[in-house]
Parts: sequence; structure tokens; C-alpha cells
Amino acid sequence: MDGKALAARVRAEVAEEARPLGPIGLATVLVGGDPASAIYVRRKHEACREVGIEPFDHHLPEETSEADLLALVARLNADPAVTGILVQLPLPAHIDEGRVLRAVAPIKDVDGFHPSSAGQLYLGEPTFVPATPLGVLELLRAYDVELAGAHTVVIGRSAIVGKPAAHLLLQANATVTICHSRTRDLGAVTRQADILVAAVGRAGIVTAAMVKPGATVIDVGINRTAAGLVGDVDPGVVEVAGLLTPVPGGVGPMTIALLLRNTLRARRYQAGLLPFP
Ligand code: NAD
Repeated sequence: MDGKALAARVRAEVAEEARPLGPIGLATVLVGGDPASAIYVRRKHEACREVGIEPFDHHLPEETSEADLLALVARLNADPAVTGILVQLPLPAHIDEGRVLRAVAPIKDVDGFHPSSAGQLYLGEPTFVPATPLGVLELLRAYDVELAGAHTVVIGRSAIVGKPAAHLLLQANATVTICHSRTRDLGAVTRQADILVAAVGRAGIVTAAMVKPGATVIDVGINRTAAGLVGDVDPGVVEVAGLLTPVPGGVGPMTIALLLRNTLRARRYQAGLLPFP
């Protein structure tokens, strides 16, 4: 499944839809010098510029206090030029991540990490949904994968990927099983999956023997190994799966594209074009 090509299509749609909406700005907040985070933020800025969204870059030193970070978020909440706010995770250990995410105004919560967004998703109401699981659903839809009644197994229960992915699949009428670090006999569960979503962060944890022949396999994992960037799915799975996302070039580019679409959603909420829940 070609996430790179599909992401380019989504970005083109966003650019087209952004034009009549007036100025749109996305503020990113990065604390500290984590190299992977810096790369992600840079890619988000490039993608913003490509579609006509203005990126506002806030890069703070590692030793920034929680109070100073909260003060910045408050300023961004109040700034009418800022349509969306994205706090790049992880934050340094001395900062309470939850407190910072709760400080983002829900109407600017383009990452969908605020409890109010998560609650709306749980209730099945339209809202900001984290971009990675949105990208997973977009890929499944683009490849006409039947979701209604399909047995879908999600490995991973994080608030950023696993849980929201499971909720979106449930909303699409899939039968959903969530596996995690305490699941017994993971393979016995995953072999039942028509659609398997791996969001663990462990290179090669999903092997060919764990996949039902013909199943659709979505690899969300990003693992830095000596061999380079790899997913959670072992390369041998390509022999068994019906459809499979590559790493890189699968879910990764979709995540950025759906973040841009979320920023459009924020603009529509703020312009009164969409009722804000
Ligand atoms: P996380 O560490 O918060 O969650 C990992 C989950 O995997 C946990 O729920 C845990 O219970 C489960 N798990 C751990 N060991 C397991 C095991 N042996 N068997 C079954 N389940 C197990 O991670 P996350 O933030 O959800 O991210 C997961 C992966 O997705 C990471 O590799 C991350 O880099 C990647 N990711 C990719 C994108 C993207 O754009 N492609 C976005 C976000 C995260």
C-alpha cells in the first residue's frame, strides 16, 4: 500500500480546500534537542508550506520550565493567527505531558490529544482525531478494504495510536480486538485478523506465522536499527499478506498529511463553517 502516493493526494486536496479559507497557521512547539523530533517537526513545516499553511516554529531549550511552556501555550491559544497547536512529544521528563496537552485550547487541538477530543472520539462524535490512526483509516479506505464486519486486531493501546485506531475501526463497524504487552499468545489472536494493525515499536514483532493468508497488514511501527528504519512487521509477511504498508513510505507520510487536514478542520471550526462540539 503506497502511503507516499496517497499522502501526496491528500496534501493536494488540502491545498485546494485551504485556498478559500484565508490565512491558516500551525504552531509547533518543540522542547529540547531530540534529533528524531526535530526531523518530524521540520517535515511538518515543509508539508505546511507546500499546502499554503504558515508554520510558526517554537523551539525551546531542554531546561524550559513547565510554567514557561504553559505560558507559551496560553499565548498561542489567544493568538488569532494560530489556527492549530502541536506540542511535539516526548517532552523532557521534568514536564508533565498531560498538563501541557490539557492546556491546548480544544478548538486548536489538531493533534487530537486533548481529553476533550479523545472523549468525543470515544462517543463517536466528529472531532479532532490523532493523525496517525486517521492515516491508517484513510489507507484502508483508499484500497477499498472492507471494514464492516471485518475482524480487526490492533496491537498496541497507546492514546496516540492503538486506542484511537481501535475506536475509528469500531465506528467503521469492524469487529475490534486490542492486543498489548500483557496479551497471551499474541499469534493466536493475530491469526484471526482480516486486518492487522501493528503499533508496538518493536522491529519484526509480527512474523509471517502470525498473519492469516490474504490479510491486510498496516505497519505503524518506526524502529531505528543498525539496518536502518524498519517497522514492526517482519519482511517475510509480504509473502502472506494480501496488502501491506511499507516502512518507510506507508503510514508515516499519511500522518503528516492528516495533520494538515486536521489543521483545515480547526480553521473551519474557528470560522464557524463547522459546528464545534
Ligand atoms: P507506545 O510505546 O506508547 O505503545 C506501544 C504499545 O505496544 C503499548 O500499548 C504496549 O502495550 C504494546 N506492546 C509492547 N510490547 C508488546 C508486545 N510484546 N506484544 C504486544 N503488544 C506490546 O508507542 P506508540 O506511541 O503507540 O507507537 C507505537 C509505534 O508506532 C512506535 O514504533 C512509534 O514510533 C510508531 N509511530 C509511528 C507513527 C507514524 O507516523 N508512522 C506515529 C506514531 C507512532
